[in-house]
Amino acid sequence: MKTEFSLAQLADPDIAEADKILRACVHCGFCTATCPTYVLLGDELDSPRGRIYLIKEMLEKNRPPTQEVVKHIDRCLSCLACMTTCPSGVNYMHLVDQARARIETDFKRPLSERALRAALAWILPRPGLFRFSMRLARLGRPLAGLLPSPQPASGSPTLFRRIKAMLALAPSNLPAQGPASGSVFPAQGTRRGRVALLQGCAQQVLAPRINRAAINLLTRHGIEVVLVKGEQCCGALTHHLGRDGDALARARANTAAWLAEAERNGLDAILVTASGCGTVIKDYGFMLREDRDFAASAAKVSALAKDITEFVAALDLPPPRQRSEVVVAYHSACSLQHGQKITHTPKELLSKNGFVVKDVPEGHLCCGSAGTYNILQPDIADRLRDRKIANIATVKPDMIAAGNIGCMVQIASGTSVPVVHTIELLDWATGGLRPILN
Ligand code: SF4
Ligand code: SF4
Repeated sequence: MKTEFSLAQLADPDIAEADKILRACVHCGFCTATCPTYVLLGDELDSPRGRIYLIKEMLEKNRPPTQEVVKHIDRCLSCLACMTTCPSGVNYMHLVDQARARIETDFKRPLSERALRAALAWILPRPGLFRFSMRLARLGRPLAGLLPSPQPASGSPTLFRRIKAMLALAPSNLPAQGPASGSVFPAQGTRRGRVALLQGCAQQVLAPRINRAAINLLTRHGIEVVLVKGEQCCGALTHHLGRDGDALARARANTAAWLAEAERNGLDAILVTASGCGTVIKDYGFMLREDRDFAASAAKVSALAKDITEFVAALDLPPPRQRSEVVVAYHSACSLQHGQKITHTPKELLSKNGFVVKDVPEGHLCCGSAGTYNILQPDIADRLRDRKIANIATVKPDMIAAGNIGCMVQIASGTSVPVVHTIELLDWATGGLRPILN
C-alpha cells in the first residue's frame, strides 16, 4: 500500500512503524474472511482491511479521530485472526494499538463512556478493588433483569446495556484468595529449574485454582515456583483501552521486579497462565523499544516469558496415571493461537495425558471476550459467544478447556458444560486433583 507520510512525520518512531506496516499491506482482502466482526456485520469498515484504511487516513492526514473511525476501531476485538490469515505479514496488532492510543488522547467520548472506561481501567488491574466490585456486582445482579435487553449490533450499546453485561459476567461465588505475592513453592525432589508465575489480576480473583494447579504440577515435576513481590497487572487491559501511559508504567515495574528476582535467585522463565497477558508481556520489548533505560531489560523479559503449555511441553511429563476418556473441546484462545502462534502444543499435551481432544469448528473465530470487549461491545460479544457455544456443542464435550481466563468466563456464561484451564486438566492427569469449579 502506498503511503504519503512527510519526512517530518516519519521522524516520529511510531509513525515510521505505522508506515512500515501499512506498506506491507497489498489490500488483497484475504483477512476479511476470518475477521469475526466482518463475518457478523458484513461491513468492509468492520474488516481488517477497512480499519487499516481508516487508520492510514487518520495518521497520514494527522487528523483527530472521527466518530466513524472510533466506532469501527472500537468494534475490533484485537483477536489478531487477521494476522494469522495475512499472507504479507502485516502487523495489524501494532497498528491498531497505535490507533487506540491516538483515539484515547485525541477523541472526546461522551461523559458516561469516559467514566465507564476510567472505572474499568482503575478497577480491573487492582485485585483488591476488583474483588470488592465483584461482591457489589453480585448484589446488583437481581437488577440486571430491569435493564435494557440486547440491541442490534449496528447500534452503539448504551451505558445500561454495558452495566447489564458486566453484571451478567459477575460470578455467583468468589473463591478464597490464592497464595500471597512473594510466596515461594519449592520443587519436590531434585530441582530441575526455577520460574516466576504471573499472578494475574482478574484471574487471581475469579479462579485462583488455575495457578494452584500450575504450581502443583510444576513443583511435582521438580520446578521451584516464585510469585514475585512487586509484580503488577501486566498492562494488557489498559493497553487495549489505549491507555498507554498506564500500560507502559506497568511494563516497566514488572520488568524491574522480574529481572531483580532473576538476578537474586535465578529464573529460567516467566510463566503465564492467561494468554491475553502472555501476548502483551511477549511484546514488552517492542512496547519499550524507545525507552533507553528499559529497552534492553524489557526485551530480556519478553524472551523469558512463556505460556505455561510451552514450558510444560519441554518438561517431558511421564505417562499419565490413568486414561480418563474425558472428551475435551479445546477452545483455542485468540491470544494464544493468533497472538502467540501456539496452536498444537496444548492439544498434544492433553492428548498425551489421556484426554480425548476435539477441535471446535470455526476455531479461528473469537468467543467475544477480548479483555473488556464483552462489557464495551456486549451485543457483538454475545453473538460471538453464542456462535462459539453452538460450535462447541457439536463435538459433545464433557469439558471445555481453554488457556485464558477471559475466554473461560465468557464461554461459561452461556453453557452448563464445565469450562476449565488446560493446566488444570494436565495437573489432574499427572497426579493432581480433579478440577473443582468455583
Ligand atoms: S490480508 Fe494482509 S495484505 Fe491482504 S488486505 Fe489483509 S492485511 Fe492487507
Ligand atoms: S483483530 Fe480481529 S476483529 Fe480486529 S480486524 Fe483483526 S480479525 Fe478483525
